[in-house]
Amino acid sequence: AKREGRGRVCFFETEMDRELRDRRLLQHDLRLALEQNELLVYFQPQARMDGEIIGFEALVRWNHPTRGFVPPDQFIPLAEENGLITEIGEWVLRQVCREAASWPRPLQVAVNLSPVQFQAGDLERSIHQILLETGLAPTRLAVEITEGVLIGDFTRALNLLRRLKALGIRIAMDDFGTGYSSLSYLQSFPFDKIKIDRSFILNLEATPQSAEIVRAVLSLAHALHIPVVAEGVETEAQRAFLEGEACEEMQGYLIGRPGPIEQYFGLIGIKVER
Ligand code: C2E
Ligand code: CA
Ligand code: CA
Ligand code: CA
Repeated sequence: AKREGRGRVCFFETEMDRELRDRRLLQHDLRLALEQNELLVYFQPQARMDGEIIGFEALVRWNHPTRGFVPPDQFIPLAEENGLITEIGEWVLRQVCREAASWPRPLQVAVNLSPVQFQAGDLERSIHQILLETGLAPTRLAVEITEGVLIGDFTRALNLLRRLKALGIRIAMDDFGTGYSSLSYLQSFPFDKIKIDRSFILNLEATPQSAEIVRAVLSLAHALHIPVVAEGVETEAQRAFLEGEACEEMQGYLIGRPGPIEQYFGLIGIKVER
């Protein structure tokens, strides 16, 4: 029994070692990913409740040479850990602004910003620079932030958000309802949009509590005159419920999955040759 116990401990150690080694390997590969053109940007449509497309959210993808697509939930935290997110975030922003500036229809584009991008470097300067460089109207750009942005240096983050807003950029509060203090942040900053987290939409039909939470978020947001986007809308039943509750916008597989922009050229007004 003793030997078996020892063997067990040993097994767990190697398992942990393996995981750590794997993280380091991925982190190392991520440094090369930008240079080797392994990162790409997918676009997911955002629509009004009647289905009319009003814009897109940009979602980064990593096509790893041997592992294939690594989900952002796996590599974004690694990039945040070693600071690479600043470079990746800037790259995404440049791609997205350049892309959107070329569209015949002036649709909105939303980009996710990491809390780390708010702490390090000069985010305002780099966004401003990219807008000038690409010629995209600032009012067409939205940035999506989670409450993590406001948890670190609150004053610094708030000032940055104010300056971005002064440039004309729209500010969306992402994953609303999942954090601890979503509510208190609503009084500190005039957000242009609130995105109700996907988890509440997912359980809309199954759990009555979710429906009540969605109703409460909508009535709160509307009292504050902030439009709401529902994330992860997959079914017509969910869409109909949200429309009934006067939700303004939606995003989810019902309207379209994240994909290469070419997939949505028709919606943007770009002629697709066949
Ligand atoms: P998020 O910002 O909350 O993005 C929404 C996620 O929900 C995306 O996952 C999207 O593919 C997924 N989704 C959208 N509609 C549906 C639906 O109807 N059903 C289901 N099951 N899922 C849906 P994705 O692309 O894997 O991204 C995960 C997270 O990674 C994002 O969550 C965001 O926090 C982060 N992320 C993605 N791109 C970037 C980026 O460029 N920069 C930063 N900092 N973070 C990013
Ligand atoms: Ca988002
Ligand atoms: Ca979200
Ligand atoms: Ca999320």
